[in-house]
Amino acid sequence: MFLKTIVVGPLEVNCYIIADEKKKEAAVVDPGDNSDEVLDVIKKNNLNLKYIINTHAHFDHIGAIGKIKKTTGAEFLIHEMEMHVLKTLPSQNLIFGIKTDSPPPPDRFLKDSEDLMLGDLTLKILYTPGHSPGGICIHADGVVFTGDTLFAGSIGRTDLPGGDYNTLINSIKNKLLSLQDETIVLPGHGPQSTIGDEREYNPFLTQ
Ligand SMILES: [Zn+2]
Ligand SMILES: [Zn+2]
Repeated sequence: MFLKTIVVGPLEVNCYIIADEKKKEAAVVDPGDNSDEVLDVIKKNNLNLKYIINTHAHFDHIGAIGKIKKTTGAEFLIHEMEMHVLKTLPSQNLIFGIKTDSPPPPDRFLKDSEDLMLGDLTLKILYTPGHSPGGICIHADGVVFTGDTLFAGSIGRTDLPGGDYNTLINSIKNKLLSLQDETIVLPGHGPQSTIGDEREYNPFLTQ
């Protein structure tokens, strides 16, 4: 699997580009900013961008969707419950004092447990609400992209509109801690981890 991380925007979102090595079909996860850098990686590696997948629609994760979609024609995919969050973009911008452009409407909504194919690579969508009502994680080939649901040693905040602490803990315990210990956790912010380390040491999950 091809995997490249680009840290984007003032809140330092981890934007990931993943692809099937052979067939060069690619997806970008959470392009919050730096569209030129993302497009550069796609071009230099001869990738064909099929999907723009968002773990959720907070303003720090969506800023470059429009430009990337316009340039590549990739489909923009997100969980339907995030449409509520997209509508609150102006107030999100106010809270954080940052201006983000609205993304184009999604091409299609993602469903829990659905498989997306990139060549021979399978991306499994895991519906993990709690940080955001339509939050998802993506499980693929020994890694899981956790957005702002699970971080190394921490979990996403639940004080933003649509957030709920118990829902978040249940999502993590049911959908993420059920993965194998050696699965690499690639979060929306900060360093990577593993499911085994989070199960053992994450203070929010050990109680
Ligand atoms: Zn978020
Ligand atoms: Zn974030």
